[in-house]
Amino acid sequence: MIIDFLGTGTSTGVPEVGCTCKVCTSANPKDKRYRASVLITVEGKNLLIDCGPDFRSQMLIRPFAPLHGILITHEHYDHVSGIDDLRPFCRLGDIDLYVEHNVKNALEQRLPYCFAEHKYPGVPNLNLVEITEDKFIVEGVEVLPIRLMHYRLPILGFRIGGFAYLTDMKTIPEKEYEKLQNLDVLVINALRREEHISHQSLAQALEQVARIAPKRTYLTHMAHSMGLHNEVEASLPPTVWLAYDGLKIEI
Ligand SMILES: [Zn+2]
Ligand SMILES: [Zn+2]
Ligand SMILES: [Zn+2]
Repeated sequence: MIIDFLGTGTSTGVPEVGCTCKVCTSANPKDKRYRASVLITVEGKNLLIDCGPDFRSQMLIRPFAPLHGILITHEHYDHVSGIDDLRPFCRLGDIDLYVEHNVKNALEQRLPYCFAEHKYPGVPNLNLVEITEDKFIVEGVEVLPIRLMHYRLPILGFRIGGFAYLTDMKTIPEKEYEKLQNLDVLVINALRREEHISHQSLAQALEQVARIAPKRTYLTHMAHSMGLHNEVEASLPPTVWLAYDGLKIEI
């Protein structure tokens, strides 16, 4: 399995428009973060997790290949607003988006033309496949949803084999920890050093890492206020790293 980090930034991206802080003006490419998303290649299938506003830019710098399924964590703009840009991929065939019931409703309201009975020519051919907390199969690949709480909003993380992707969450319901045992790689969100109402701080993410005890951990969904990539990474425990755009890891 290969995990390709398309984006590792919070909802504003890094740099933030108009900001002149040392992170936003850093020359290090690792301090530039598109909105959070990963492309997973497993058993010859390409699965995308989330499709945000930078999706087009993220795909322009990668070889063009079919997408075999898209897993959506939740309906916030930074995770779904690239869906219209799936059009070139839909020329290779319809694409299934795996979504919870409330996310399905939100997408049908926001992108009614994509799901109309009689579609305008050229709109993306997408199917909304409703999922629950039960495991499901995408083109032969088993995916286990993990319930997460984004403050009061229930959202999903996903586990595929020894890999789990948990973004935008503040807390994990107690019953979900058993789904996170024996991980090779955990990707988990850490917004910044200071606390935030709906996202984990760096310290909170590291507490989760200590409890879940994966072999390797990569942090994602970071704001500019996390600090410079190289400085923050130097302060982390030995099996924890900051993800960065373009990072590829193999499991
Ligand atoms: Zn987000
Ligand atoms: Zn800044
Ligand atoms: Zn969110």
